[in-house]
Amino acid sequence: MSEPFDIIIIGSGPGGYVAAIRAGQLGLKTAIIEKAFLGGTCLNVGCIPTKVLLRCAEVYTLAREGKDFGVLADNVRLDLATAINRKEKIVLERRRGVETLMAKNKATVFRGTASIVAPGKVVVRSEAGVEEISGRNIIIATGSAPKTIHSVHIDEKKIISSTGALDLAEVPGSIAIIGAGAIGIEFASLLQEFGSKVTLIEALPQILPLEDKESAVEVARAFRSRGIRMLTSARVGAVRHTETGVVVEVTGSDGVAEEVVADKLLMAVGRRPVTEDLGLEASSVKTERGFVVVNGNMRTSVEGIYGIGDCVTVDGMGTHLQLAHVASAEAIVAVETIGGRDVSPLDYNAIPRCVYSHPEVGSIGLTEDQAVQKGHDVKVGRFPLRANSKSSIVGERGGMVKIVADAKYGEILGMHMVGPSATEIVAEIAVAMRLESTVEEIARTVHAHPTVAEAVMEAAHAVFGAAIHI
Ligand code: NAD
Repeated sequence: MSEPFDIIIIGSGPGGYVAAIRAGQLGLKTAIIEKAFLGGTCLNVGCIPTKVLLRCAEVYTLAREGKDFGVLADNVRLDLATAINRKEKIVLERRRGVETLMAKNKATVFRGTASIVAPGKVVVRSEAGVEEISGRNIIIATGSAPKTIHSVHIDEKKIISSTGALDLAEVPGSIAIIGAGAIGIEFASLLQEFGSKVTLIEALPQILPLEDKESAVEVARAFRSRGIRMLTSARVGAVRHTETGVVVEVTGSDGVAEEVVADKLLMAVGRRPVTEDLGLEASSVKTERGFVVVNGNMRTSVEGIYGIGDCVTVDGMGTHLQLAHVASAEAIVAVETIGGRDVSPLDYNAIPRCVYSHPEVGSIGLTEDQAVQKGHDVKVGRFPLRANSKSSIVGERGGMVKIVADAKYGEILGMHMVGPSATEIVAEIAVAMRLESTVEEIARTVHAHPTVAEAVMEAAHAVFGAAIHI
């Protein structure tokens, strides 16, 4: 019997593969097991391919609307097959990058489906057979998969998930999307720019329900002007297949029922943890609605077993966001804990949230409503991007930055931005919150001109009623 591994990692998404790299850096003997492709959902059928296609939509829109910039192009068309090939190429390149990183950090990669047969013992099943490996620690990083609702069956033909939406043979003439969270919003934006007639159906009263109301209003305004139909406070009834597509029965907030007819239906109602068949019951790992329950150091209820990423819920830490960067950050916490380092839990209140739609949404921390509910004496600073020169230069006139602060010391509680580069600019406030900076410090930090980031400084000034360009 060979020497046991220090860590066995199950799953190679941005949680698992980052764990393997950190483990290699700490000199730990590491195994990583993957049943599909290295890189997991994010790299193969999630963040990366979606953003590649969103970039394609951006280029297509710019090419069509270049005339506003004096750039004339006739007969601009979308070649979807080339766009999909480019996406495949980028995914493949990045996947090879992960393979190289695994080799460089001396992680042994096992291909197959893992299950925990006892603490410290994992069985890997593949076409090649069954292999048992042992390790002092196990990290569960098995991620999530698309959910659906009641009787709606995702066939990846007429009724698709985000995975199917990444491999369309042609742009659907029309599409209904159930769910207006990050996935629903990104695909609504992408497919409308590709030429589909889009209807978004959301159960809650606002699109992007996790976001500040004002961000949702900005996105809704931009979407409406592009012809995207949004039904909020909507109840989905029966979903029927027709010869050419689907019919979705929807009852609106006014109680009036209608039938939304579309060529395709995209289900974007959230993702469920992938923890079945892992042998969690046999090893007594505590779960909750299928999620592995962990503490701030990513330890499960069983000594030597850890959990990270989309498949976990963190006890007592509030909402756990299913985001790639959360998984990667948790991977480092888990591995450093295993390596005996004194590591603090993540600050789950300061996780950047990014939606890569057009317009982009970047946010962090509490919404204004959440801050009020938590009893803060809230002060808000807003700055509209129509007063920001760089936004005009870029050609995006909508959007805004909103900073939510506590009146007493000017503590930054949250930042909400809609507009160009919002997904990049949010990093500024992530650093500020980490350093416990105040709004005053943001306002006094010199920001380069002309940049969109200046609007953050202006919103900080606006907390004191002293924005300059408005
Ligand atoms: P989500 O939970 O963010 O959104 C699902 C939406 O569906 C919610 O708004 C919910 O109210 C709505 N919904 C649920 N049941 C419904 C019903 N019966 N009828 C109408 N609406 C219904 O989930 P998602 O958008 O599917 O994304 C899954 C996960 O992946 C999320 O955690 C998300 O943050 C993450 N993700 C992140 C990004 C990003 O960071 N850019 C992109 C894609 C996905």
